[in-house]
Amino acid sequence: MAKRGMLIVLSGPSGVGKGTVRKALFETGATDFSYSISMTTRKPREGEVNGVDYYFVSKEEFEENIRNGEMLEYAKYVDNYYGTPLKYVNETLDQGKDVFLEIEVNGAMQVRANCPDAVFVFLTPPDLMELKHRLIGRGTDAMDVINKRIKKAVGEIRMMRNYDYAVVNDEVSKAVERIQMIIRSERLRVTRV
Ligand code: 5GP
Repeated sequence: MAKRGMLIVLSGPSGVGKGTVRKALFETGATDFSYSISMTTRKPREGEVNGVDYYFVSKEEFEENIRNGEMLEYAKYVDNYYGTPLKYVNETLDQGKDVFLEIEVNGAMQVRANCPDAVFVFLTPPDLMELKHRLIGRGTDAMDVINKRIKKAVGEIRMMRNYDYAVVNDEVSKAVERIQMIIRSERLRVTRV
């Protein structure tokens, strides 16, 4: 029987560029893992194709999938549902092929609860890493610079603790390289949780 594939989850704060990095990763043509196409109730944007970018479905259809236990994870994001159909992920992993998800943070935490041996990658904006180092280095900084942006950033840094890797999205091509490096080394791992 083939060794079960590895599940790779790319997530991170909204606006960090997850979609752009994921597309660039698959456009390298060097990916020997499958992208799990998400299901959403959001309307297609110009140029988006059903079954390529997303499975675009109605709210009723999505909720029926939830009721039937057909979603690996799902979340409501800006008034729309987004989720990962379970069947494709399971079948592909069973074939021994690795599967890549690009999802928002609430969904990622559900996957973490259900699939503890998945690999979790947190994509961060460069300033978040800088801020993290400053806050760790000098405990007083936070008091001086409290404002909305910092509060949000601190929340995001806390989330980072739930991930295996942090990848800075300073340049898309560099972020792609770092993700490829993570996947290559995870494949060489001897032990898994
Ligand atoms: P957009 O509407 O810009 O395509 O995506 C909005 C957000 O939904 C992004 O943060 C994206 O990563 C996230 N997303 C896309 N597919 C899924 C999914 O299957 N599950 C979850 N939880 N989030 C998703």
